[in-house]
Amino acid sequence: MMFGAIEAGGTKFVCAVGNEVFEILDQITISTTSPEETMPRVVAFFKPYIGEIKAMGVSSFGPIDVTKGSDTYGYITNTPKVKWQFFDFLGYIKQHIPNVEITWTTDVNGSAYGEYMFREDTKDLVYYTIGTGIGGGAISNGHIIEGVTHPEMGHVPVRKHPDDVFAGICPNHGDCLEGLASGPAIEARLGVNSKDIPASDPYWDIQAYYIAQSAFNTSLFFSPEVIIYGGGVMKVEGLQDKVREQFEAINNGYIDTPLLEEYIVTPTLEDTAAIVGCFAMAKQQIK
Ligand code: ZN
Repeated sequence: MMFGAIEAGGTKFVCAVGNEVFEILDQITISTTSPEETMPRVVAFFKPYIGEIKAMGVSSFGPIDVTKGSDTYGYITNTPKVKWQFFDFLGYIKQHIPNVEITWTTDVNGSAYGEYMFREDTKDLVYYTIGTGIGGGAISNGHIIEGVTHPEMGHVPVRKHPDDVFAGICPNHGDCLEGLASGPAIEARLGVNSKDIPASDPYWDIQAYYIAQSAFNTSLFFSPEVIIYGGGVMKVEGLQDKVREQFEAINNGYIDTPLLEEYIVTPTLEDTAAIVGCFAMAKQQIK
């Protein structure tokens, strides 16, 4: 039995075909330009597998409409990526890849679910990506948490670091977590790509202060077994340690957590979490 997966990110799409144990059998990466350019390439990748794929998981950058019964269910909604605003993603896939069961969720929920599948004995976790944007997905007792819409953990208000004079870049909130700590926010603040800022730069203490606040809020809200931080920005050497230190300072002994080295962690699946999560969601559809 084969499954399809689409991880639609803000800079690239990863499309994959996998088997029942979630091994990737074929995969392609496509840049996220416009629906007119990107989507036909997505369909072309899956064309040879139509008839073989029983179900597909799609996890997309957002915001997206996940409310079944809504007129715009399956759409990417008011994204800052103008070309993708109110694009009927799910409708397009259903039209061009017929007779396949499709699950639809956010990119971070896909990653969260992939991590959940690969962490035995973990039922509750929260997954954040810190990259082009910031988003979080929560799994509680094995289920993805969604309500009227999906959570938007990247846009929480945070307390400003005393040494940070940057106003923030979120078009809606200015200095929310994403507005202060996403890759583009770092670049707007310092004038260089976050990849080119050395691990020894004092800026990373400011970054860790914001991430640690998200870890603290997450602990207060969800009390998860583990909080996972993925995404390009988190690959900076030593950043996770700084986050743990600042978490300890902010928490100030208030809540009990597991050992911080096991509580605030990097992804097990590195860059394939969302694809694995999509396969797993797809497989659940046909059980
Ligand atoms: Zn915001």
